[in-house]
Amino acid sequence: MSRKLFIAGNWKMNSSAVASVEVARGMASELGSVEAVDLAICPPFVYIPGVAEALKDSNIGVGAQNMYFEDNGAFTGEISARMLKDIGCRYVILGHSERRHVIGETDELINAKIIKALAGGLEVMFCVGELLDQRKSDRTTEVVTTQITAGLKNIGPEALLGITIAYEPVWAIGTGETATPDQAQETHAMIRALIGQLYGTELAESIRIQYGGSVKPGNAAELLGCPDVDGALVGGASMTVEDFSGIVNSVL
Ligand code: PEP
Repeated sequence: MSRKLFIAGNWKMNSSAVASVEVARGMASELGSVEAVDLAICPPFVYIPGVAEALKDSNIGVGAQNMYFEDNGAFTGEISARMLKDIGCRYVILGHSERRHVIGETDELINAKIIKALAGGLEVMFCVGELLDQRKSDRTTEVVTTQITAGLKNIGPEALLGITIAYEPVWAIGTGETATPDQAQETHAMIRALIGQLYGTELAESIRIQYGGSVKPGNAAELLGCPDVDGALVGGASMTVEDFSGIVNSVL
């Protein structure tokens, strides 16, 4: 089955109101009419309205990098799925390694967020991935299997259609280290087989699995050319029009 590639940018906490709109306008002009690949930009919360406005007439969707699992109420500092929809988000990234390992989010919390995001009409980029010492001790399959099984708990086959899995080996995020195409393909195939066990072959064949970890214009085509790699979640290189366009153009 051929799956449409999905390339999304996860902007880091480095922009400004003016710069984020400028970059989004540049992306709208360079990539706004691309149809062959699904595209999204996920800025920090505060820049979402400006970026959404700049991208509104383009084919580039907007997403957030996190959300809370309640709709309303006294949860100071938190943002709900309903609020993200309200300001034009189509997507939300959940379970990013920086939230797991810097902020301390658990599989259970991520699962609650995924359930609420899907119920609220958002599409989820659900991130999983192993630490360097886990890879070195041959525990990648075990770690990723636990993250996926726990993260997808109580999510039925219909809801699964709203999820893209992002495999992001933690040792490759923001480090300049990239998984080799063989390493990426091996783990993506394992993830697809796991989805097959949990949901059946048809859904396993249709779910998209993005790779993330130092994707750049120079390595994107090779990584995204792997049979089970269906796109990319791009951090640093999604923050400039030149690099993000370079990545997208390398697979068109
Ligand atoms: C990310 O932020 O999800 C990411 C993969 O970052 P980078 O591309 O900079 O490694």
